[in-house]
Amino acid sequence: MKLQDVINDLEKRYPHQPEFIQAVKEVAITISSVYDSHPDYSRCNIFERLTEPDRTISFRINWEDDQGNIQVNRGWRVQFSNAIGPYKGGLRFHPTVNESVLKFLGFEQIFKNALTGLPMGGGKGGSDFDPKGKSDSEIRRFCYAFIRELYKYIGKDMDVPAGDIGVGGREVSYMFAMYKNLTHEYSGVLTGKGVGFGGSLIRTEATGYGAVYFLENMLGVHKDNLTNKRVLVSGAGNVSLHAAEKAASLDAIVLTVSDSKGTLYDAKGFDQEKIDWLKKQKEQRKPLEEYVAVFGGEWLAGQKPWQFEADVALPCATQNEVDIAEAKQMHENGVKYIVEGANMPLTAEAIDYVREKNIHYAPGKAANAGGVAVSGLEMSQNSVRQYRSFEDLDLQLHRIIKDIHDSAMRAALACQPEDAPCIDYMTGANIVGFSRVADALVAYGILN
Ligand code: NDP
Repeated sequence: MKLQDVINDLEKRYPHQPEFIQAVKEVAITISSVYDSHPDYSRCNIFERLTEPDRTISFRINWEDDQGNIQVNRGWRVQFSNAIGPYKGGLRFHPTVNESVLKFLGFEQIFKNALTGLPMGGGKGGSDFDPKGKSDSEIRRFCYAFIRELYKYIGKDMDVPAGDIGVGGREVSYMFAMYKNLTHEYSGVLTGKGVGFGGSLIRTEATGYGAVYFLENMLGVHKDNLTNKRVLVSGAGNVSLHAAEKAASLDAIVLTVSDSKGTLYDAKGFDQEKIDWLKKQKEQRKPLEEYVAVFGGEWLAGQKPWQFEADVALPCATQNEVDIAEAKQMHENGVKYIVEGANMPLTAEAIDYVREKNIHYAPGKAANAGGVAVSGLEMSQNSVRQYRSFEDLDLQLHRIIKDIHDSAMRAALACQPEDAPCIDYMTGANIVGFSRVADALVAYGILN
């Protein structure tokens, strides 16, 4: 089937899955040259095969709240492709979770994981459970109930989930405990565990740090660096605060963070002391706006961070958080680099706009791959029952991100005009990730 026919078919089949269709289109438009020059890809119908998950498991979760009421949520695990390794991808707990969101995330994850060069397939899962306002006991009971259903379908060589929005070290540890309890087995079935019982150092920091390492590589191409660059960060979660921390440590001036309630602006920049305060505040689920009373700055209720002049934007909150109007705002405010810490934070129109305006743009599947890369290193540490040091893992993270950057750059340069003003990382990353998976599928014949 031709790429466009696959998209037409998906649009008919899944009209209620806009995020998934958006992610598929983004890949399709950038791989057409490679697809056309490899007859095996269309002979083996690779694209159609890769746009249908191997399977989607859906289940009901019953759990008891603090008042003794039985609550019901829905859970899913999309096992998209295990062509080059066990299914691997996070679990998201958020009321907006549905099959479309998980299919888009799982589809992206296939190519992101392939880009790391580690043997990991793609998957994603989660629940429409809302952790906000829940007590610790409720979170624990929910995590236990969730994994009591999911444990039948995961395993260290089969499917290895991790965290994502609403799922951090605490939740992963609860789920790991229940898995261990049900199976009598201590294995690396989940990553992002607590350090001290199988977790890897630098896993918590890896996605945000990795995004900034990717940015450093982009700047390096232009013999530039982060010193005194003004940076706008969105979100105040795991990815955002570690991206802010790493950028600040490299002498950038981080001007904003945000959350679903608004944006925090500090013209003096967030230094380590302020970032530590923000981490603690979010950990205790207290309002960001209390920062102003302690450190000064400005709280902009209900607003996003893109209204400020800056050199770099790091959208690190959630999908489609930057639309075309906001992309225009960034351009008008002088932003020259956009690096996606979140998955698909720019809408398709926003991506077209920033590429047209020659803003250097790095897509999430390349720039935020540091987290899953260290998850891959956690899996290998668990397999050989050894721990590696922070410094060793940080070096490895640097090397993996540089490899991703360089391979995406090489693939982009091979197919874009010599005088193009920007490196087309989006095309390059999609080509590299897709080719690695497609070549495996061709070698397997018609089995996945
Ligand atoms: P967290 O739950 O730790 O943080 C998410 C942050 O984004 C919070 O500050 C949250 O605000 C904010 N946010 C979420 N939804 C919205 C919204 N609709 N509008 C405004 N703000 C919003 O998640 P992570 O940091 O782990 O994940 C962030 C992004 O990075 C996601 O796209 C995720 O898929 C991606 N990612 C994460 C990886 C990881 O290792 N964790 C790996 C690779 C990608 P509030 O606190 O108010 O809810």
